[in-house]
Amino acid sequence: MSQIDDLPPLRDVIARHQLSARKALGQNFLLDLNLTARIARIAGDLSQTDVIEVGPGPGGLTRGLLAEGARRVLAIEKDPRCLPALTEIQQAHPDRFSVLQGDALEIDPLAHLTPPIAICANLPYNVGTELLIRWLTPDEWPPFWSSLTLMFQKEVAQRITAEPGSKAYGRLAILSQWRAEAHIALTLPPEAFSPPPKVHSAVVHLTALPQPRFPAKAHLLERVVAKAFNQRRKMLRASLKGLAPDIEDRLLSAGIQPTERAEQVPLEAFCALARTLE
Ligand code: SAM
Repeated sequence: MSQIDDLPPLRDVIARHQLSARKALGQNFLLDLNLTARIARIAGDLSQTDVIEVGPGPGGLTRGLLAEGARRVLAIEKDPRCLPALTEIQQAHPDRFSVLQGDALEIDPLAHLTPPIAICANLPYNVGTELLIRWLTPDEWPPFWSSLTLMFQKEVAQRITAEPGSKAYGRLAILSQWRAEAHIALTLPPEAFSPPPKVHSAVVHLTALPQPRFPAKAHLLERVVAKAFNQRRKMLRASLKGLAPDIEDRLLSAGIQPTERAEQVPLEAFCALARTLE
């Protein structure tokens, strides 16, 4: 296996800094640096791009991003135990790498960066989906980022890329595909991680579209879709009843039969429905 940098192997780093994985922080580390470099390549040419890496842990993906030539990497890590390991990477790349310690749900890293900006992360499931929704639903578009390269449980990745009519189709698919191109770029078995999680994982690559596929206000589309899929087996005239007293008329004017169920309705029609609520 070829070396991607001159730093010690990740197993040694983890042992030396006693980074036993903590379940509460969703810590399943990638130890194969060739694999982390491969994930970094999914993000594309980063030589003219600043990268936000969320949850670097002992730094496997960080080292992949730096080895693949990212202009700058700014990492946000919640676990202070990881800082000494990340400082070693910082010493090897003083001009290209820095770390902020804290919760990515609370830190705004933008002041430290110059566009274009890409985001790369291997995060616990709940933090990852919450951040994804935030990154996809700012009021203004295009957003501050140009691409997202994110590791999820495979089932979540399938929900992000799902088509109408499938069981996985829902809020994540609609919000992701409305303003971005999303595809699964790589699937990984549990053994790729230490400790291995219970499920398979997948890397999703999303590229921000210059403008949304169909016009709609983000907060209205979010509201409609959350309500529609909250009771996904119900007909839309029932699940969306609380949205407006004349919801049946609005559904019809958006080209949706009130007796349809949310999982049959394409993105374009959900956007049309959100526009009737403006
Ligand atoms: N990137 C490393 C890798 O691929 O081996 C670690 C991935 S591990 C699945 C998730 C990392 O996210 C852990 O290092 C954990 O401490 C960190 N983390 C968890 N919640 C976080 C949060 N809210 N903000 C920032 N980092 C977080």
